[in-house]
Amino acid sequence: MNQANTGKLDLSVVIPVYNENESLPELHRQLTAVLEPRGYRYELIFVDDGSRDGSGQEMELLAQKDARVRVIQFQKNYGKSAALSVGFDAAVGEIVATLDADLQDDPGEIPALIQKMNEGGYDLVSGWKKKRHDPISKRWPSKIFNWVTARISGVRIHDINCGLKVYRNFVAKNLHPYGELHRFLPVLAHLDGFTVGEKEVVHHPRKYGKSKFGASRFTSGFFDLLTVMFLSRYLKKPLHLFGILGILSFIGGFVIGAYLTVLRLTGHWIGNRPLLFLGILLMIMGVQFVSIGLLGEMITASQTPKQTYVIRRTLNLKPTFLPSQTL
Ligand code: UDP
Ligand code: MG
Repeated sequence: MNQANTGKLDLSVVIPVYNENESLPELHRQLTAVLEPRGYRYELIFVDDGSRDGSGQEMELLAQKDARVRVIQFQKNYGKSAALSVGFDAAVGEIVATLDADLQDDPGEIPALIQKMNEGGYDLVSGWKKKRHDPISKRWPSKIFNWVTARISGVRIHDINCGLKVYRNFVAKNLHPYGELHRFLPVLAHLDGFTVGEKEVVHHPRKYGKSKFGASRFTSGFFDLLTVMFLSRYLKKPLHLFGILGILSFIGGFVIGAYLTVLRLTGHWIGNRPLLFLGILLMIMGVQFVSIGLLGEMITASQTPKQTYVIRRTLNLKPTFLPSQTL
């Protein structure tokens, strides 16, 4: 009891909770049964994402019984990304594990995931729900989604959005998922140069309550993927994307314009040519793309915080040098 909330721990388990009151006592029992006998020094960070079913009270009971239980309660429902993000910020364990609160993820897998991370030298290991206990309406779209995401992002794992994952503390601290980006945590980590592994895990059907994510997740998921890829490649250099589009468009329009000019000079009537409009359109679009790119560059230049890099380690440097994000 009364384990202080400071100092190093071996493990922080971050659990996002939105209306899962029936599952919480059982989840706490399962986690304790797995972690305590193995001698981990750990904390369980329950993040109540604006639940309205008494999950908050359940957490209070758990925190009274067990000093390793930390509770963060949001004022309202902000979504799973925000819940994970605040949990990552609070975590003091050398390793940070996440799992869903609905008992679908098995706490018994955490030690094996940690082992895989240590043996493989990974920065993050993601669970792979190979045999998945969800309705078929979720399994198939999810398969396609995972396949496309893996192709586009280059993170070759089967199950990007598994709730069960383990991270080294500095990796979790450098991810700041917002919106719906919790689906892309391995991609975000990969883009920051962290290594990502995966390991098969068992998965259970939902016992209590109902799923919080409907079919809309898949349409919005593709937009989110677009956002991730766009931001990761072009956030700091928007003109590189818009400039290319603009120049290509302008050149296309210019060539058409030149061709029509030659026709006109050789005595042809070009006022009735649809091509003329296409040429004008392409040139205007070209100028607009370049302007958008330049505007983007201005925003980037004025918004970019001083530090845009992640330092993994330093040697022989005074601590006063170290910027806040240093690991
Ligand atoms: N969750 C959350 N905030 C939300 C939606 C979900 O914290 O707005 C939590 C939820 O309580 C669960 C996890 O995220 O612990 C995964 O949600 P769910 O089981 O509904 O997703 P599914 O298994 O259907 O993908
Ligand atoms: Mg679930």
